[in-house]
Amino acid sequence: MKHKALHEMISARYLMRELRRLMARDMSIQARLDRIVSLLAESLNVDVCSCYILRPGDLLELYATYGLDKNARHETFLRVGEGLVGEIALQRKPLFSEDAWAHPSFVYKPETNEKAFKSLAGVPLIRSNRLLGVLVIQTKKKQTYTSETIELLETVAMVVAEMLTGQHLTAPERENVAPMGRQKLDAVSLIEGFAIGTIAIHKRMSQAVNLLAKDSQQEIQRLHAALETVEQEINKILATSHMTGEQSAIFDTYLMFLKDKGWILKMTKAIEAGLTAEAAVQKVGEEIAERMQMMTDPYIKERVHDFNDLGARVLKHLRGKPSASKNKKMLKNTILVAKTLGPAELLDYDLSKIKGLILEEGSQTMHMVIVARSLNLPLVCGIKNVCSVLAEGDYVALDATAGIVYVNPSDETLDDLNTRTATRRKLEAKYHQIASLPAETVDGVEISLNINAGLSNDLTLPENTLFHGVGLYRTELPFMLSDTLPDVRMQENIYRRVLIKAKGRPVVFRTLDIGSDKVLPYFHHKGEENPAMGWRSIRMTLDRRALLRNQLRALIHAAADRELFVMFPMISSVDEFLEAKATLNIELERARLQQAHMPQKVKVGTMIEVPSLIFSLDRLLREVDFVSIGTNDLAQFLFAADRGNPNIWNRYDNLSPALLKALRIIVHRCQEAHIPCSVCGEMAGRPLEAMTLVALGFTSLSMNPTALGPVKSAIRAMNYQQLSDYLEKQLSVSSRSLRDRLISYARDHGILI
Ligand code: PEP
Ligand code: MG
Repeated sequence: MKHKALHEMISARYLMRELRRLMARDMSIQARLDRIVSLLAESLNVDVCSCYILRPGDLLELYATYGLDKNARHETFLRVGEGLVGEIALQRKPLFSEDAWAHPSFVYKPETNEKAFKSLAGVPLIRSNRLLGVLVIQTKKKQTYTSETIELLETVAMVVAEMLTGQHLTAPERENVAPMGRQKLDAVSLIEGFAIGTIAIHKRMSQAVNLLAKDSQQEIQRLHAALETVEQEINKILATSHMTGEQSAIFDTYLMFLKDKGWILKMTKAIEAGLTAEAAVQKVGEEIAERMQMMTDPYIKERVHDFNDLGARVLKHLRGKPSASKNKKMLKNTILVAKTLGPAELLDYDLSKIKGLILEEGSQTMHMVIVARSLNLPLVCGIKNVCSVLAEGDYVALDATAGIVYVNPSDETLDDLNTRTATRRKLEAKYHQIASLPAETVDGVEISLNINAGLSNDLTLPENTLFHGVGLYRTELPFMLSDTLPDVRMQENIYRRVLIKAKGRPVVFRTLDIGSDKVLPYFHHKGEENPAMGWRSIRMTLDRRALLRNQLRALIHAAADRELFVMFPMISSVDEFLEAKATLNIELERARLQQAHMPQKVKVGTMIEVPSLIFSLDRLLREVDFVSIGTNDLAQFLFAADRGNPNIWNRYDNLSPALLKALRIIVHRCQEAHIPCSVCGEMAGRPLEAMTLVALGFTSLSMNPTALGPVKSAIRAMNYQQLSDYLEKQLSVSSRSLRDRLISYARDHGILI
């Protein structure tokens, strides 16, 4: 027995060393798998070792084998659930049988010539919760398998799974194994478009690059050091921050996990089997998470997230400094996947490499989605457990127009997407043709189209694009891009650059609108129950008056000898507006006293995003120079429906009579008072909604630059008077939404929406 254990240990070492060499060599997947199965068979002293790969339709293909008839490779298929191999895939658990023929699930495949073999042991190939195939060994004699053998098989399975999906695959090689794990995932489209690329997962327990280690003792030491650092880190968090009972309970659970002897022992064993500390944390972590997920107890299920987070913390310390997203190595065509993502987090990435986004949770007017729209990034959401369903390195085609993600897309899918991309380009060419024409309805009503901006490339529009100005400049976006709070000088430079780029067009600068989901990395404030309705935006800048004054000072300097338009966000009462305006006047007075170059003229306006202002219009319209309606927030507050909550965001429709009537009140009152009124929420950038706003009486809209073409095309096709009369009648019907009627109207009148 002793002799057997020693033999097993020596062969495991040999196997790991050879595996390490093999992974370092440049060879095709087929050649590598062929070598791995022979190596495993040799070192475990078994007669057969085979690797089955999962194909579309839940079929397991015999991909590489040592011991079975080689001609059966790529010819033998088993369904998931069929035979012992299928059983392993179905259960996603190791299985071993002394006498496979006697097993009730056994199925004989004559072409493999496996008649001669008795015992069988196999493990699933799983990566990030996704089944990729099965690895099996067989012997001629009946025999049992030790837990060490099964663990060794699992370790090799992990390396194989990594190889099949990870960085070791280049795109052309992947083509050869493309059918593997081909999947079609349904999602919700948030920003239309197409993208083809490689998946990068945001902030999850990303895969260890080096799986196999040379020096186990050193790896064990690294693991313990990382565990200790995480423990210190958590103790520090517990000691220094003010947490609710629930929050501190989470960290207490982390501490409990950190001291769990079983977990540590499992990781130590995995390292002793030849893995690096990172790979061991990952392997054991995935096994435990998988087991926890299977539990029926919802409390334990929920702890999976905590456990994964803890694993990520340990990995972070094993790798050294946490790498900023910007430094994350990404391929040229990356599709970023996240459970959810904040705008600042998105902006932290190298955006030149990101071609599309897939989120678990998202909604049309979430700030991150608005930022992504201005970057023209196709985006879908609504795929449950997306960070487990997709894995780092997966090759996907994203059809964000239809709301589908194709994993390992077939050639037909790629052809189809390319054709549709070409159609889209044709449409864009059509928009380009009308770019220099006015946005005028068929019956001669001219609409002023403006853009929403905040990122430096927002103002880089094709030369001939006709637009009136910047209807909303979100000043918080450059703040989000900065690592520290920009001082007056820095801000002044930013704003001056915007004005220069706008080439004399008016630019409406909205003062800082931070808080809610717009967080600045360097500006912490206590968590709130309802951050969207909390201490945000103008409420915060009035309380932190220096912040507001510095910003206004920078704007005044930047607009020297030009027109300055200042707009305050989230104003809820006229007094609040007056307080903000008084602050601007103080800064103007200060600049005058300093004999600074002054703006030619200054116009002050407010966003209408809080419903209370609708009932304060009489007084408000006497104080403002202009207003702009932020329908994203106005709708959220009118319907009491969190704009970022995926469970409710589409429960209420912007084309509901309720919201449209509220908008009608505002536009009519502004017309009477001769106060310019615009809409700058996302709805102004959607052709159907934009034509409806025009029919309500709005003559100025501000939108994402990419929406200019589609919106102008719809406006140029509509008859204002006709649609206005039609809408007027519809507004009195009792209906949840007028969307369907308006779509029919557009179709009947040849308006492309
Ligand atoms: C709005 O609320 O409609 C708006 C334009 O502001 P933001 O989306 O930045 O909150
Ligand atoms: Mg808003």
